[in-house]
Amino acid sequence: MRRWLMCRACGNEEDLGPYFNGCLACGGALEVTYDYDALDERAVAALVAPSSHARSADLLPVTDLDDVVTLGEGNTPLVPSLVLGTDLDLEHCYFKNETVNPTWGHKDRAQSIMLTKARDFGFDLVTVASTGNHGAAAAAYATRARRKACAVFCPPETSDVLLRLIDTLGGLAFVADWEIRHQFVRSLVSEQGWYPPPVCTRARPPTPTAWRATRAWHARSYATWVGCPTRSTWPAP
Ligand SMILES: [Zn+2]
Repeated sequence: MRRWLMCRACGNEEDLGPYFNGCLACGGALEVTYDYDALDERAVAALVAPSSHARSADLLPVTDLDDVVTLGEGNTPLVPSLVLGTDLDLEHCYFKNETVNPTWGHKDRAQSIMLTKARDFGFDLVTVASTGNHGAAAAAYATRARRKACAVFCPPETSDVLLRLIDTLGGLAFVADWEIRHQFVRSLVSEQGWYPPPVCTRARPPTPTAWRATRAWHARSYATWVGCPTRSTWPAP
């Protein structure tokens, strides 16, 4: 199915390329869009079947289900709320337990897609600025994608546990001041050809939100008895 990039701000369209500074016309955020009219029944069925998010490949910016860099992320439990839903006056409220992903966080979904694209685009070197868990996810999926290096720039407050986890998963953890971290990443990306796979991003490669859709589709697959989710949120770090 055809996929392309569209600017959220001005509607400009681009091919599915490695654009790290947003829309070429206005600098706005590029997002992947799809030819939804071309979706066949098999693709729709895959979206609502409980499974790894890789099963949703028809609506991810990848070309082949078997080509997704995956560690088995997704398919996380949907747990009914006993208290919060009542407090918020919600009739149906569920927790999506993303802590059972491979590196214990929802960012594994994003890094699965980001590192698939890094490999497809031919980037061997990966770099992120992270407070820890994003860096651990990037390191794990960069290793899985057999990239040569994943440099993770963390702030001084990052715990030793996370720094060691990043190294254990095959990354290279560096500690730097909060703002200087981003300068390192921008320099490596713009001057040295490294690939930035952020989640929320200052350098802006496309696809950061495509992975969030996989969580919604999966929630939908569990919630057939109540219909589609009408809202989704997650705790701030
Ligand atoms: Zn634009």
